Amino acid sequence: MVTTDWQSDLRKRGYRLTPQRQLVLEAVDRLEHATPDDILTEVRRTAGGVNISTVYRTLELLEELGLVSHAHLGHGAPTYHLADRHHHLHLVCRDCGDVIEADVSVASGFTAQLRDTFGFDTDLKHFAIFGRCAGCSSAATPDASGGAATEAGPTDADRAAGASNDGP
Ligand SMILES: [Zn+2]
Ligand SMILES: [Zn+2]
Ligand SMILES: [Zn+2]
Repeated sequence: MVTTDWQSDLRKRGYRLTPQRQLVLEAVDRLEHATPDDILTEVRRTAGGVNISTVYRTLELLEELGLVSHAHLGHGAPTYHLADRHHHLHLVCRDCGDVIEADVSVASGFTAQLRDTFGFDTDLKHFAIFGRCAGCSSAATPDASGGAATEAGPTDADRAAGASNDGP
């Protein structure tokens, strides 16, 4: 049983598998790519008294012990995995937000080159790679539209209204 592994893993390092630690590990296991908030919501189903700072502290400890690891999939909070299940790159679609998991081996040529050239050991799992998924790319292919479309559009009006106004 998985729980037993966690228990002995922690005990070897001099920590007990407290109910809170177990609940956090189980939530990370179940949710995949869960933010601390997601994990809190999950943990609270069982233990209503747990608060967000407990979740942060627990995640920090579990990460230090090598049981969980995190990845950044965007601008928001980091997301957590069980460490032994995190051997993939994250390809995040800018348009639909889909997260594709790609085995780290797809980047082996790139990371080998960085090692050869810079002596740099690259960790591509830590941050996501942004782009457009196959579905969104084909939906957005400009082939079908008229070539002159880029000439018009709202750009001129926007410039007239003031170039500094680019936020929501
Ligand atoms: Zn992942
Ligand atoms: Zn990080
Ligand atoms: Zn997409």
